[in-house]
This record gives sequence, C-alpha cells and structure tokens, in this order.
Amino acid sequence: METATIAAIATPLGVGGIGTIRVSGPGAREITARVFRSALGDDLRKMEGYRATFGHVFDEAGEFDEAVVLLFAAPRSFTGEDVAEISCHGGVYLLERLLSALVRAGARPAQAGEFTKRAFLNGKLDLTRAEAVADLIGAQGRQAAASALAAKEGALYRKSREICDSLVALASHLSAWIDYPEEDVEDVEGESLLSELTAIGEGLTALSATFETGHLLREGIPTAIVGRPNVGKSTIMNMLSGTQNSIVTPIPGTTRDVVEDQVAVDGMVLRLADTAGIRDTDDPVERLGVERARARIDQAALVLAVFDASEALTDDDRSIIAQCGEKPAIAVINKRDLEQKIDETYIKDKFKHIVYTSAQMGEGQQELSAAIRRVMRLEHLDPSAPMVANERQRDCVLRAGAAVESAVEALRMAFTLDAVDVCVEDAISCLMELTGERASEAVVEQVFSRFCVGK
Ligand code: GDP
Ligand code: ZN
Repeated sequence: METATIAAIATPLGVGGIGTIRVSGPGAREITARVFRSALGDDLRKMEGYRATFGHVFDEAGEFDEAVVLLFAAPRSFTGEDVAEISCHGGVYLLERLLSALVRAGARPAQAGEFTKRAFLNGKLDLTRAEAVADLIGAQGRQAAASALAAKEGALYRKSREICDSLVALASHLSAWIDYPEEDVEDVEGESLLSELTAIGEGLTALSATFETGHLLREGIPTAIVGRPNVGKSTIMNMLSGTQNSIVTPIPGTTRDVVEDQVAVDGMVLRLADTAGIRDTDDPVERLGVERARARIDQAALVLAVFDASEALTDDDRSIIAQCGEKPAIAVINKRDLEQKIDETYIKDKFKHIVYTSAQMGEGQQELSAAIRRVMRLEHLDPSAPMVANERQRDCVLRAGAAVESAVEALRMAFTLDAVDVCVEDAISCLMELTGERASEAVVEQVFSRFCVGK
C-alpha cells in the first residue's frame, strides 16, 4: 500500500475558467482540510464520499480563492484511495499557489502518471485500460478517441481474459493427463486439443493485426498527394480540411520548412507529408513535383493521385501513375466542372478506386473520404471491438501467439505433453503481462512514464 499522499494540477496550465488539483492518498482529507475552509460548515475529515462542498482555499498569507472540493472515499475512487478534487479559478498563479500550500500541508507532488499507476496497483484497472487513459487524452480524431474509450472500458482486457481463460482450461487438462499418464490421451482428445489450440492461435493473430488499424487511427494516415502542377492538389487539401487556413500559409516561402500537415477528415487524421512543393504553383520547386512524387509515395500508407479532367493525360501523369506501384491509392479526377478531355480508361485500368471531384466547388468531398475509408479498410470498423493499441501490447500478443504455435507444433510432432504444457503456460504468461497481472516492475514503469503529470 502507498502511504504518501500525492497532489497535482489535473487541468491544463494556462488561463481557464476552472482549474482542478487532485489529491490522492490516505492523507487526502486531512491535507486538503489544512488548505480549505468550507463555507457550508462541512468537515472534510468526516464528510461522506461523493459529496461536494464550497468554500475558500487559504495559506499562511490568508484566503486566496473560492473553491469547490469534491470528495471520493476509498476504495470507490479512481485511484482506489481517498481522493479530493479541489476546483478553483483556473489561473496558473492560483493553481501553483494552491499546490504549494498542499505540499506544505504534507502532500508530495505527483509524478507523471502516478494517479493512474496507483489505480493499477490498487486493482482498479488493468494495464491495457491504464494505457487507454493516455490514448484517450492524446486522441486526435473521433475514431481514435472511440477506440481508446472502448479500450478504457476494457474491450482488450476482456478479450485477453477470454483467451487466457481458454488457455488455462487447456493447461489444467494437460496437467491432469500429465499427472495420470496411465489414462492415455485418446486420439479424439488429442485432435480436439489441436483444433482448440489452432483456433486460439488464429484469434491471437487476428488480435495482433488490429494494431495496424489502430495505429492508423491514432497516429494518422501518412498520405501522399501527388500530381502534376495545377491539377488541384492544394485545392483538394483545402477541401478535405474544410478550412483554407490549415493549408495556405500567408507568407510565401515559409512553407519550405513545413514537414507535415495534419488534416482531420471524417473522423480520420490524414498526415500530409512534404506539402511544401504542393503549395505554391508558381514556384520552381513545384516543377519538381513529379520527381518528388516517388519519395512521397514511398513514405505514404495512402496515395491520392490527382488528375485534371479538363486535360488529356500527359507523360508526367503516366509516370506518376507508374510510381504509385502497389500502394493503396485513389485516383482523384479533379476539375469535373470543366469540359472533360481526360482519357479515363487508362486510369480505370490502373486504379481500383476512382473519385471525381470539383475541388474548387467543394464537390466530391464525401466520395473522397468514403474512398479513403474503403482503401484503408476503416469502413466497417467497430470502435468497440478489442484493439491492440501500442507496441508493448502487440509484443505480448505476438509472443503469446508464437507460444501457442509452438504448442501446436509440439502436439503435431507428438512431443511429450509436458512440452505442450510448457508452451501453453508461456502463452498464458504473455497474456498476463499484457493485462499487467504478471508484468515486471520495469514494464509497469515504462507504461506510466508515457503519462502527463496530473493523470
Ligand atoms: P496544385 O498545383 O495541384 O496544388 O493545384 P492548385 O490547387 O493550386 O490549383 C491550380 C488551379 O486550378 C487553381 O487556380 C485552382 O483554383 C484551380 N482548380 C482547382 N480545383 C479546381 C476545380 O475543381 N475546378 C476548376 N475549374 N478549377 C480548379
Ligand atoms: Zn499546389
């Protein structure tokens, strides 16, 4: 059990209407009572949990703000300890003064992630849900937030438990057979063991594959928008982002330094790399567009190849098409509003996904974002489904999968059941590391080091 009472500013620093300091630990009531006086006659030392009281915060120099204290009584709080949340006005000065007062009253400033870590150590949440808290805070798009929320509500945890439970059941069967060898494993049972293990292995493979999708949602989709000068790349980017400002920079020349633009499209985040050359059509750099396309395409997970419907295809167009290779790509035939001169059959031959836009009129945006969803396989995404959210989790799932595969091998090769059992136990260990039931201290430290202070 932790004995120190910790305190931290839980809201972003800056000027805001309300700022909150969270105090957690066995001394939360007492320490808070030393800096807060209720105007309603409530005594924080005795007050019931889930109640709020209004009053003033003070230090040696006197009262310095009004405040509301919300009290959560252990164990029914986020951390599992007594927690007081003190909300006062949101200025940096006030919050820091209040935090100093709390520290002088006996609290220790919390380290990054320490509240969530205590929640984990007190069994309030497993490691996957703790990680989801950080993901939720960092989420940039609607879908990323939705899947982080699902993880926070335990989607990955439950999936992991479910697989773990089947493995534990298998392992106990195995031990029974190992302990009573005279009752030989019948062929039938060997077969069913094999098919069960195979199914579990497939489940783990499918689970680890969700990492890719989740990664795209969280980190954004590295997108290359390529095409000859003047086909409408900038206009399309502006249309996608919905704001002129996010792409166009008022001072010409400054765009050279821009490495990446992030554009929110229909719940997804597109990361448009190297937009410098795309912006200024009069610039000689723009002429490098075709040559630079290759590098952009190589680094992208998604290619938007833009063509001008009002012109016949040129060699440059064809060379850009050739550069798209096997990358997930969408042909965007722009300037639909003008008289059509482009030869679509060539494009249809090379691209599975074609979208017509008139970017200047803002037409075709929905079609384009729907196509992006299709190409990136994000269309039927169920945000409540379990999803592997980071490298650590994927590593655990992959190792569990490899162990199950070894178990299948051992069984096929008719090794001893002991050998099979060892592999199954190994897989169980990996899954318990995933949820944190058996994670080493180093792993736990690592997880919480990602957090910000106050969480
Ligand atoms: P980029 O060089 O590929 O980035 O092309 P721009 O986005 O800078 O557009 C080049 C020119 O084409 C600009 O004058 C745009 O206003 C114009 N343009 C872009 N999209 C359309 C469109 O859908 N229809 C028409 N008629 N003009 C467009
Ligand atoms: Zn441009």
